Amino acid sequence: MNNNVKIVIDAGHGGSDPGASGNGIVEKEYALKIAEYLNNRFKELGVNSTLIRQVDETLTPNERVNRILSAYGNSPDVLVISNHLNAGGAECSCLG
Ligand SMILES: [Zn+2]
Repeated sequence: MNNNVKIVIDAGHGGSDPGASGNGIVEKEYALKIAEYLNNRFKELGVNSTLIRQVDETLTPNERVNRILSAYGNSPDVLVISNHLNAGGAECSCLG
């Protein structure tokens, strides 16, 4: 892997936007748990990474994009992972 790579992890949904839910599982909660796991694992591997949200908060699509762009700038070395756990046929109102 390119040693200069930086990873921005976007936990889908949050706050007033729970995403998909069923069987007691709420998408926004698992999206954040997975994002935290990935962030910790990347750091263990010595890869620069950061989270777009660390708490259960509401973000507009513009806020989300601004946080992504402000994390490490807009560069070919930046990867963005946007976590979603959609129910079959569900649609996201966020970045897609
Ligand atoms: Zn989603």
